Amino acid sequence: MTARAGTVYLVGAGPGDPGLMTARSLELIAAADSILYDRLIPAAALAGARADAELRYVGKEPGAASVPQDRIHEELVERARNGLSVVRLKGGDPFVFGRGGEEAEALRAAGVEFEVVPGVTAGIAAPAYAGIPVTHRDDASAVAFVTGHEDPAKGEAAIDWEALARFPGTLVMYMGVRNLPEIARRLIAAGRDPDEPAAAVERGTMGGQRQVSATLASLAEAAAEAGLAPPSILLFGPVAARRDSIAWLERRPLHGRRVVVTRARAQASGLASALTALGADVVELPAIRIEPRIDTAEVREAIEALHTYALVCLTSPNGVRLLFDAMAAAGRDARALSQAQVAAIGPGTAAALRERGVIADVVPERSVAEALVAALEPVPVHGRPVLVARAAEARSVLPDALRDRGAQVDVVALYETVREDPDPAAVEAAMAADYVTFTSSSTVRNFLEVTGGRMPDAARIVAIGPVTASTLRESGFAADVEADRHDPEGLVEALLADARG
Ligand code: SAH
Repeated sequence: MTARAGTVYLVGAGPGDPGLMTARSLELIAAADSILYDRLIPAAALAGARADAELRYVGKEPGAASVPQDRIHEELVERARNGLSVVRLKGGDPFVFGRGGEEAEALRAAGVEFEVVPGVTAGIAAPAYAGIPVTHRDDASAVAFVTGHEDPAKGEAAIDWEALARFPGTLVMYMGVRNLPEIARRLIAAGRDPDEPAAAVERGTMGGQRQVSATLASLAEAAAEAGLAPPSILLFGPVAARRDSIAWLERRPLHGRRVVVTRARAQASGLASALTALGADVVELPAIRIEPRIDTAEVREAIEALHTYALVCLTSPNGVRLLFDAMAAAGRDARALSQAQVAAIGPGTAAALRERGVIADVVPERSVAEALVAALEPVPVHGRPVLVARAAEARSVLPDALRDRGAQVDVVALYETVREDPDPAAVEAAMAADYVTFTSSSTVRNFLEVTGGRMPDAARIVAIGPVTASTLRESGFAADVEADRHDPEGLVEALLADARG
């Protein structure tokens, strides 16, 4: 097991971009029995948690009471003593202004084993995403991480402004944006050059990152004008001026474009991360969720009789995954398919088969039932048993066509697609999107159900293929962009071409 029972893992989740989470953090999140998390963790950080894991929010809500630190210590100790593997998930790095040190000490005092998994800290990552290197051979050979938020109990003395003013390098300040006017005033009063380049980076590495560049003397006004709010990093030092020559985030092809991804939860992340990597501000609306239905008499019978089918048709990667799960549950493996011809509805489904050691005999280029029907023409099916394994609510085009050709068709439902409860904030964000993507007819229906029939006014609508486009038409909306290749990569290509104009 990657996560040991009775152990607490103090884990950094990075600054916000899920791509900056460490491999170790993802592994532990996937394995943990219980996850206690804070507010500033990436939106998708918990997506990989076990379905039966306890997810407990212990962070602060602005304006609301937070779980007191002592209580967090108690909860960690209690769970570990009950034999759970516990992940304590924090934004950035757990030991950089994260109170991870206190938690580690409390655990040691209680005799609880713990491990620390460092994370990418905001003080380095936010400047980096703004094109500012915190050190530079010519400009800065030292960097200081400083808190701009003073614990009132500590009194005036905690920040030594004279020492900071003299510090020969870059000052990176956490939790300072609200006190920025006071911070700048104190640094200048203590002798720091008012003309020194300075920058503030809000929501660094997250969708919607913003930054302002100014001087030490003018940063407070510039930040106030832009309305910068927490979480923001402040940075003082000559390296701040390097942004002019190093800024890179804005150059990515989908920078500044908000794109809605409406897919089943288990599949959303691939498309979402491809779009994110191109710079898009991705809003995930997991409109549908895959609900496995493999523990049914019809599925068990089909698995039992798998070796008797002349042809087995799979119509989605989820179908492939669940067919193999059902086979495994019955103690069978890929050899159960050795007697049958295997057909996949398209390249994605064929790839899922290939991963499991089965090369599909029939794969149309376009992932639509009509194309599969055409591709199956040379396959003899008359009088032969054929299995179509698929979603409960799929169209009847394929079984109908096979029956017309005299096949004995068994249709089994491996899963249902059910609607997720909408997250109001995500729906709101989706309504201001530049693009909405649809990867199947059911995503269209579910999206419209979630939004109450609304489509964002300014958004261009992207459909993965003709069937999805016609479902859109039936719902009263026209696809502005239709992918040539009917898979997620094809959709991204089409969207990118559209965005480039
Ligand atoms: N342990 C965290 C810091 C927690 S203190 C880390 O290592 O990054 C919280 C402060 O971190 C915020 O007030 C802000 O100053 C900074 N911060 C966290 N995430 C940020 C982000 N994505 N962009 C800018 N600042 C961020």
